[in-house]
Amino acid sequence: MKEISEVPTLREISADDVVRFLNERGASPACTVCGHGYSSIHIRDNESVSVLANPSVTISNGKGTIDLTRPSITVATECDNCGHYRFFSYVKILNWADKNRGPHE
Ligand SMILES: [Zn+2]
Repeated sequence: MKEISEVPTLREISADDVVRFLNERGASPACTVCGHGYSSIHIRDNESVSVLANPSVTISNGKGTIDLTRPSITVATECDNCGHYRFFSYVKILNWADKNRGPHE
């Protein structure tokens, strides 16, 4: 059994952080299933988004080899039309948000 090699400290990120991250990365707001243009972000309260945590996943580097074992923490968006879920890496959004704070932070 592998040790969990990366356990990020959970800090709050806002829905605005998620929207700014997705816009900056060029993510299409259109649903990949039905093409609807609007999705909702799952939030815990008005200040922060909900995160979904899987304590351990194995990551492939795309060449069929195993990189490491780490927790998988995601942020979900849900299509307002068909309900299709999309999941984004909490760690990627958090790291981006730490370097790109909004005007009120
Ligand atoms: Zn949809």
